[in-house]
Amino acid sequence: MKKETFVTKDQLEEIVKEYPTPFHLYDEKGIRRNIRALKEAFSWNKGYKEYFAVKATPNPFLINILREYGCGCDCSSYTELMLSEAVGALKEDIMFSSNDTPAEEFAYADRLGAIINLDDITHIDFLENVIGHIPETISCRYNPGGLFKISNDIMDNPGDSKYGMTTEQLFDAFKILKEKGAKEFGIHAFLASNTVTNEYYPMLAKVLFEVAVKLKQETGVHIKFINLSGGIGIPYTPDQEPNDIRMIGDGVRRVYEEVLTPEGMDDVAIYTELGRFMMGPYGCLVTKAIHQKHTHKEYIGVDACAVNLMRPAMYGAYHHITVMGKEKKALDHKYDIVGSLCENNDKFAIDRMLPKIDMGDLLVIHDTGAHGFSMGYNYNGKLKSAELLLKEDGGVQLIRRAETPADYFATFDCFEVAKNLMK
Ligand SMILES: *Cc1c(COP(=O)(O)O)cnc(C)c1O
Repeated sequence: MKKETFVTKDQLEEIVKEYPTPFHLYDEKGIRRNIRALKEAFSWNKGYKEYFAVKATPNPFLINILREYGCGCDCSSYTELMLSEAVGALKEDIMFSSNDTPAEEFAYADRLGAIINLDDITHIDFLENVIGHIPETISCRYNPGGLFKISNDIMDNPGDSKYGMTTEQLFDAFKILKEKGAKEFGIHAFLASNTVTNEYYPMLAKVLFEVAVKLKQETGVHIKFINLSGGIGIPYTPDQEPNDIRMIGDGVRRVYEEVLTPEGMDDVAIYTELGRFMMGPYGCLVTKAIHQKHTHKEYIGVDACAVNLMRPAMYGAYHHITVMGKEKKALDHKYDIVGSLCENNDKFAIDRMLPKIDMGDLLVIHDTGAHGFSMGYNYNGKLKSAELLLKEDGGVQLIRRAETPADYFATFDCFEVAKNLMK
């Protein structure tokens, strides 16, 4: 599929007059269109709820858009819980799907009334010691091990992943939790990441629904919800077909009617914890070409770097790049598009065929709306960029200012040296 930008060159030229590059820009229209489609796709399930994976894009302005559609927050850290509380997402609106969880985070999640999703059987005692009781509603994360395969394709390797409980542990955990007074149960699993196939969710659902039936039969608990978690991917490359969320919703419904309904379990709510699917395509990183270098390769240096978008450096991930205003030009130049870090993996693209780039050209790096800004760090003392929202009416709103040196040095504020650093 041809990849297009959600912003025009004219719009960007206006925006950069006020907000210098680099910055992340989000598309309100796209975010709203997508959440409506998601809700529609699962409207057959009465209790359906999306808990947005806050780590993907921890910005209260964006989360508030999703909140308008009834989304909750999926959190796994102290500050993610704080964000959730700040936007008024409390109690059943928070899914606390953490792992290796510090005591104070369980305590905070419990104070907020969050639904706690236990990553391990040992966390039952740990949690009880911290908060003094077992919550009435509780969830367990499942990891069946082995390889997760669709047809002949290996999608991911749960057997190699640190998350979740084994089948045996899951059954034991439910029995123990029931004995300790839990009344409503949930099951959660995240078995493959960034899947670009309509088959993943239905297949995952089948695994979870079948285990839910057995859990109910063996332990007699009431299963309130099944949390399909994240993992629905987006087409980062032009040759990938986007997921069809309607087909995914229908696929889950078919399995639900096949496995749960005959067991009288048609009151089970479906939850999701999507991050990438909710925001990924509706954000981009806007940067400017500031240097060209002709050595053993052809380099274009831009004013963004891996601090603003780590996925290419971390995973070798592909992010499509559009040179604004040159969309129709021939892709007849081979470039490495690089940032300024003293790290040779600071490359947004390697050997990428693009139109000829001139200094000052604006480059749009696609699909940075999830796990983009949020994965950023401060290596080389580089500062994090602003985040802007392209509103439905075409206006632009600053939704996070850019970092300043004072932000970077803020953790020296208790020392004498701060006087010289934080001016
Ligand atoms: C990261 C994460 C998600 C979101 O994953 P996406 O691939 O962005 O949809 C959901 N749940 C948990 C527990 C996660 O760690």
